[in-house]
Amino acid sequence: MTERFTGSFTQQEPIPEEGIAAALAVLRSGRLHRYNLAPGELGETALLEQDFAALVGAKYCLAVASGGYALATALRAVGIGPGDPVLTNAFTLAPVPGAIASLGARPILVGVTEALTIDLEDLAAKAGAARVLLLSHMRGHICDMDRLMALCDGAGITVIEDCAHTMGGSWRGVPSGRHGAIGCYSCQTYKHVNSGEGGLLVTDDAALAARAVLLSGSYMLYERHLAAPGPEAFAEARFETPNISGRMDNLRAAILRPQLRALPRQVARWNRRYRVLEEGLRDTPGLRLIARPADEGYVGSSFQVLLPGWEGDKVQALLTRCAARGVELKWFGAPEPVGFTSRYEHWHYAKAPPMPQSDRILAGLLDMRVPLTFSVEDCALIARILREEVQRVHNADAACAP
Ligand SMILES: *Cc1c(COP(=O)(O)O)cnc(C)c1O
Repeated sequence: MTERFTGSFTQQEPIPEEGIAAALAVLRSGRLHRYNLAPGELGETALLEQDFAALVGAKYCLAVASGGYALATALRAVGIGPGDPVLTNAFTLAPVPGAIASLGARPILVGVTEALTIDLEDLAAKAGAARVLLLSHMRGHICDMDRLMALCDGAGITVIEDCAHTMGGSWRGVPSGRHGAIGCYSCQTYKHVNSGEGGLLVTDDAALAARAVLLSGSYMLYERHLAAPGPEAFAEARFETPNISGRMDNLRAAILRPQLRALPRQVARWNRRYRVLEEGLRDTPGLRLIARPADEGYVGSSFQVLLPGWEGDKVQALLTRCAARGVELKWFGAPEPVGFTSRYEHWHYAKAPPMPQSDRILAGLLDMRVPLTFSVEDCALIARILREEVQRVHNADAACAP
């Protein structure tokens, strides 16, 4: 019998009942705007910022409208403006170079390794080209942060971390987003907490935090923040910082707070599923798993494999066969951008010189989401299907070889 998977790769879990109750309370109050507070009320958004700062051990936290907005705000806060070069990963999703382009700044793309992390040699070679690195922990793969920070500190490069896929992750015990000057997170439906849209930004730097708060649209109400620096940090900045509205509202914050409390438990559930996929695919001829370093605390909310040296039509045949059995895979080697997936050559506004080594890796890179609506058995089934189809396509190819 041919097994088939019938689950949905885009179906997330429901919002916890506690979050629904908190959201209803906000709706009933009518005070959805973060600065619309009753006497003595602190507000869900300010409380969320306080909760998240405590979770990752940051001094300051700001909640905003999206992860992409958090990235653009971080870039503005460190002084990036039109025409400025910004180093970033070639292997990431479109909102990352998009945040750079939104300021009229210029992305300088850095290659990817077979560990799916930023190529530190390429970064070292390009380090003189910019004073800021927007580092994307794409698909939750964290590079050697000790080496990266040593390199960037040595070259006078400020690091902003894109932690859209690493909320809850860490490197040598330090939470992801806490190595660079600013860490940015997404609360969009497909990330680790879900408010539909939403973003968070953390830093220990009072001047950066004050600028970010003002940029997000605080007017002169910054004293209503619970995880922002004191008024002295705003003394000059309030006259110099434009208001680029992108606040989070109390409704989304209310939904998010119980999810943050559940995050460690959710991370354990993701990783259990990840390990079942990994075990099910181990030693499949033609397929390579991504090694996870011992220093990396990862969140297995998505799963990647490499098909080293596979021709495009062979990969396409595999995708078609897997899709027919209900397993939807994304391919970073596709000639055209599809759905959420695009490759750096597709971003014509971020012109990059050819990167043959990265191209070779991306040409064989498959990716799938692992929503928590998948059971552990679902993950075992997905691994069996992928393994069988890889063997089939791989063997057919071997049989045709002269
Ligand atoms: C989703 C995502 C973002 C942006 O988050 P939004 O909240 O959707 O704006 C940034 N970087 C990566 C890698 C992402 O996947």
